[in-house]
Amino acid sequence: MMPEPPEDPTASQGESPSGPEDRPADLPAGWRLVADRSGRRRDVMLINLTALAAALPFGALMVVAGLAPVPVGPLRPPTDSTMLLLSLTLLALLLASVLHEWVHGLTMQAVGGRPRYGAKLIQGICPVFYAHCDEPLRRDQYLLVTVAPTVAVTAVGVLLMLLLPRWGFFALAAAAGNLAGCTGDWWIAARLLRERPDVFVQDHPREVGYRLVAPDPGTA
Ligand SMILES: [Zn+2]
Repeated sequence: MMPEPPEDPTASQGESPSGPEDRPADLPAGWRLVADRSGRRRDVMLINLTALAAALPFGALMVVAGLAPVPVGPLRPPTDSTMLLLSLTLLALLLASVLHEWVHGLTMQAVGGRPRYGAKLIQGICPVFYAHCDEPLRRDQYLLVTVAPTVAVTAVGVLLMLLLPRWGFFALAAAAGNLAGCTGDWWIAARLLRERPDVFVQDHPREVGYRLVAPDPGTA
């Protein structure tokens, strides 16, 4: 087993040991790398396990509501067809993830970033959407971008449950799926809170996490 480098919570104060010759090519001009805060393997595992734990209660409710002959309150699905139920639930989850990334993007825009949107396949089958911001943001701006979908998509889900109770099952599916998908954001938010408030944060271009950067007129 490969040894992991020790966790250093004070590293945000330090300078990057790397010289200009190993400056990452994907850093925006005018900035230098201070620290890379991408998630390690155990972080990604923790994020996925938390997502699973967040999704389990809803999964259990869905099985009970969808398969049991007794209705489960207003959350009873509006169809008896398991196939239709599954398809509509998947559609609700897909719409929730699009809304999740759109909220990230809108918040990036609101704090002065220029979001890029896209989609990719994980393991060749599972589609995921993303909103990416190349511009470094202040810590609290990045924190806002990070937690916005947790608040906004949950609020939309609750609103839909109240306004369209007949479709409440799918609104709940979307809201619960979104919360399960927010665990990576929560991990980032928890890390951001340990950074100094005056740091600049850049969306990590490849990994889960972010980079700390600092203005560097020499590379502009
Ligand atoms: Zn997110």
